[in-house]
Amino acid sequence: MKLLNVHTHYPSGSHAADEIVNLRPGEYSGVLPRLYSAGLHPWFLREASLESDLEWLHACAPGAVAIGEAGLDKLVNTPADLQMAAFRACITVSEQTGKPLIIHCVKAYEAVIAVKKNLKPVQPWIIHGFDKHPQTAAELLRAGCYLSFGKALFNDRSHAARSLQSVPADRFFLETDDARDLTIEAVYTRAARIRGVTQEEMTTGGVRPDSIFRL
Ligand SMILES: [Zn+2]
Repeated sequence: MKLLNVHTHYPSGSHAADEIVNLRPGEYSGVLPRLYSAGLHPWFLREASLESDLEWLHACAPGAVAIGEAGLDKLVNTPADLQMAAFRACITVSEQTGKPLIIHCVKAYEAVIAVKKNLKPVQPWIIHGFDKHPQTAAELLRAGCYLSFGKALFNDRSHAARSLQSVPADRFFLETDDARDLTIEAVYTRAARIRGVTQEEMTTGGVRPDSIFRL
């Protein structure tokens, strides 16, 4: 079975892994990657460009395997109402096109869970770059979310490793995100060690990517 890098900004071109390359408006004006997600990231939102950003999203969505990254970030200056408007627009596109949503969430887990409870989306939601407490992981799992882990697993002081140990095998993905010097193979090896399973079990024993994505 192939490895899956569920979220990367810098595809490696590895034949051993499927890579979902993240795109936002203005990125990759040329040939689109084979597998990509398209979304409106809260860091880059501007009131003046929201309409053209949405046009871009609607144009890219049919060819995407996922929508995102999109979400809420309490540490960025982007106004909260603009973040929420863009997030809800991405949720709508995810539901209309039948594609999972990859979520960027910083200090806004309760808000994301509240939106999910309110809108009751059918599509899977994947919280990417997760590095919070097992308790937060449990709340997100209870709300039906999937989690994705990456570079924080290599930081002994992060909560990511303890959370990864607590997550059922069929509820998480792995990623390299914006780390240029990290391979998805290394993330799988690290995750296998943290969970106390073999590399083989790590690759075959978890969520079946083709049950979530049309790869
Ligand atoms: Zn990212």
